[in-house]
Amino acid sequence: MLKLTMGKVSIAASLADIWVNCTGSATLRAKYKLPDENKQSRKEGLTFHDLAKQVIEMITHPRIDAPIPGDFINTISVHDVLITQEMYEASVEYANDIFRCCNQKRILGEVQIEKETMLPVFGEGERCHPDVFVIDKDHKEIFIWDAKFGHSIVEVYENYQLLIYLMGITQNGDWSGWKVNLTIYQPRARHPLGISRTWSDSYENMATYFDKIIFAAYETKSGEGKLTPGRHCKQCVGKRACVANERAVFDIIDLVKYSDDTSELKGNELSLELSLLRDAKLLVESRYDALNAQAKYEMLNGAPLPGQKLETIYGNTVFDKLKITELLTIGDLMKIDLRKPEDVITPKQAIAVGLDENIVSQYSKTNKNGVKVVADDGTLAKLIFGGS
Ligand code: SF4
Repeated sequence: MLKLTMGKVSIAASLADIWVNCTGSATLRAKYKLPDENKQSRKEGLTFHDLAKQVIEMITHPRIDAPIPGDFINTISVHDVLITQEMYEASVEYANDIFRCCNQKRILGEVQIEKETMLPVFGEGERCHPDVFVIDKDHKEIFIWDAKFGHSIVEVYENYQLLIYLMGITQNGDWSGWKVNLTIYQPRARHPLGISRTWSDSYENMATYFDKIIFAAYETKSGEGKLTPGRHCKQCVGKRACVANERAVFDIIDLVKYSDDTSELKGNELSLELSLLRDAKLLVESRYDALNAQAKYEMLNGAPLPGQKLETIYGNTVFDKLKITELLTIGDLMKIDLRKPEDVITPKQAIAVGLDENIVSQYSKTNKNGVKVVADDGTLAKLIFGGS
């Protein structure tokens, strides 16, 4: 993670997709972020990263006195989050993804984990901490990984966070002729390209983004950045107070209100309106979510809102994971078997414990639940054909 501290506004590399596209967003974020906004997902992300770091270190630098990461399952992390079996398995699979790549490509560099990396281009003392990276001098290749534990899909192509890490890692020396591989690992987000996605290209091509990022960083820190609405608004915590976002949403509503074309759309027109409505839906829904969060916050703090009320949401009733052993003992004493019938673990779990992926693919199947129309912005083609 990166914190820039040039001037009044600080910028996190993990939020680069927002502030590079909208240089006014960091100012709004600093002023209007609600106290608890995204707190739980941030704490889960930190816990996942801590766990993954321990798993990777256990493999790269085994120590007899090091804690065994698997022992943390069903315990509470320092970030006050329950470490679940799912989280542990995801961290093991993330480590597997890294070492599988290192083995397949015969990478001969040292695996660096959250290594402090200076960023003088953003000012003296600035730094970042890439999740994991390897510099393979023999094959002139750089590999950078970033894991995301959230459910929202993060694209790897033109990912500014990874490009900032690349800037830091390659700040000194001549990297021309090198190949760069940037990977996003997302165990909980369903993406057609899978949970591990890599953007590979020459260093020269990746470096063409650096000027844009540096310019955006300085404009953001100046406090005079521009508000530029777009898909990145979805993740922006300042949008509840953003006039540009509000205007964009009401422009869409006006467009719908004054449209009097009743003819059936075909071909390009159908595709164009579908794309417009997809973007509009994202903007309207994300603004609704932001205002909903503000209303909830105000009502929980005792400010009534006319026409709105709070209602408790109930989920499934589940056993408290911290009391499972006690519960099973009670069941045994009462001669009631509370254990699940015997079953096999999932294909993902089987790979994590060492079963060959080819065997897993022969004995498993992925169900198809129909088809859906999605935007095609050419990213897949660029990932396949754009690299060197
Ligand atoms: S809501 Fe959108 S336009 Fe407004 S500050 Fe955030 S990213 Fe920028």
